[in-house]
Amino acid sequence: MPSGKTKFYPSWMEKLDNSGKTLGSWCKRDTSNEFARYCTVCMKSISCCNSGAYQLISQADGQKHKENMKYMHDNSQKRLFGSAP
Ligand SMILES: [Zn+2]
Repeated sequence: MPSGKTKFYPSWMEKLDNSGKTLGSWCKRDTSNEFARYCTVCMKSISCCNSGAYQLISQADGQKHKENMKYMHDNSQKRLFGSAP
């Protein structure tokens, strides 16, 4: 097999990032680039052509991603329990 760019494998979606979340819970297919995945938390495209799933995992370990994740989580909590008087 010739080795070129690393393509995306669906099984990556079941891998866990360092926060214990599956990659599939926050990233989805980037329809414009088969070598990239779209992070729905950061709302940006992540290239995974060099080190594959590892690039997605290290992106999820970034401060910005964690902040965005926390923010989304906080918002959903507020929606669930209503706002304090
Ligand atoms: Zn992200």
